[in-house]
Amino acid sequence: MNRDVVVIGGGIVGSAAAYELAKSGVQVTLIDEDKPGRATSAGAGIICPGTSFRAPIHHFTLSGQAAGYYPVLLDELASLGITHTGYETVGCLYVATNENEAEKLPILKTLMEERKSSGMPNIGDLAIVDSEEAKRLFPAIGDIHSAIYLSGAARLDGRLLRQSLIEAAQKLGANVIAGSGVLQCKDGNVEGVQVEDLIIATDRVILAGGAWSNQYRDLIGIDIPIEPQKGQILHLDMRETTSSWPVVLGFHSHYMLTFPDHRVVVGATRETGSGYDTEVTVGGVQEVVNEALRIAPGLSRGRVVEVRVGLRPATPDLLPILGEVPSVKGLYLAAGHGANGLTAGAFSGIAVSRQVMDVEVGIDLEPYSIQRFEA
Ligand SMILES: Cc1cc2nc3c(=O)[nH]c(=O)nc-3n(C[C@H](O)[C@H](O)[C@H](O)COP(=O)(O)OP(=O)(O)OC[C@H]3O[C@@H](n4cnc5c(N)ncnc54)[C@H](O)[C@@H]3O)c2cc1C
Repeated sequence: MNRDVVVIGGGIVGSAAAYELAKSGVQVTLIDEDKPGRATSAGAGIICPGTSFRAPIHHFTLSGQAAGYYPVLLDELASLGITHTGYETVGCLYVATNENEAEKLPILKTLMEERKSSGMPNIGDLAIVDSEEAKRLFPAIGDIHSAIYLSGAARLDGRLLRQSLIEAAQKLGANVIAGSGVLQCKDGNVEGVQVEDLIIATDRVILAGGAWSNQYRDLIGIDIPIEPQKGQILHLDMRETTSSWPVVLGFHSHYMLTFPDHRVVVGATRETGSGYDTEVTVGGVQEVVNEALRIAPGLSRGRVVEVRVGLRPATPDLLPILGEVPSVKGLYLAAGHGANGLTAGAFSGIAVSRQVMDVEVGIDLEPYSIQRFEA
């Protein structure tokens, strides 16, 4: 069996890469092992890159372009008859709970306005709203101080989008294999990928293995500095919610958002140094519940239906690692999106697959190169 390009890892990044390659007529094989802790299957799905207080400039460049690319990607999927992604523009409330936080809202609003003027999508109309208006928009909210409301924020369902990308890739001719892919290299060249007894000969591999992308140090001679960061996230069922309630963010890493069928998602822990542990812990659930109820006590009526655990692929500088590995001809990395991969991961996978095909990538990948860690 000889396929032109092999993608290892079928989270959002690898699935999008496989889709783009198949769309362009490349013979592609996508290999996914369905490891417990796949981040795409646990991610909240908030697409609102303009809300960060501070982040590296290249974070905004990639996330802005990626968020702006979603309508194009979703149209392409729709033209194949695939529409289940959970993507919807629902707006966002960025909440201040006290005087101290409220003093920072105008500064953040100005930052968002600047980002909007410089072309960042998913911001929309901006306004500072009081507690009553926030409660009208998200009725489970308690007595907060005030909030910024952004009309343009969106959310999606990572599981649905991943399935849709794989379905689209398969429709366009991609081969999808369930199993663990083992990269094979010799003398600085990619030679193939082994999946159990099957050897797939290829000279081009995209490694999109999420938090598991760091396993090849000995084989490729360089360190890929990606570590798992565990996130525990709760799914509630609450009859009175509707899927059009806005995403709620604030001056902490916790958030809540709603989906169809009265589902409320509240998250999430950020357990740096967790290793590959995917257990649900009492402490993790307590942290998420406490933070959610602090902002939205009305959620206490919700029924807990599920706790998901995902391993974010975290890098030291919060930027993903994208593009060809200089020391191994034919090996391309598309991993390390940390807490931002449902926003940027599909676009990154597509961009790297375009680099593999040697066509216009759509973004300068140099700032995201593995070489930045050499110093
Ligand atoms: C709780 C939580 C909330 C989040 N919320 C958001 C959010 O609101 N917005 C946002 O933008 N991002 C969010 N994220 C981040 C986002 O989910 C991730 O950055 C993104 O899903 C990473 O995608 P990935 O494809 O790189 O990795 P993953 O989704 O982890 O996929 C990697 C895949 O590679 C496979 N794999 C690995 N090694 C091999 C191998 N050797 N052979 C075969 N298969 C292999 C695994 O089985 C897995 O399926 C969240 C993450 C978590 C955990």
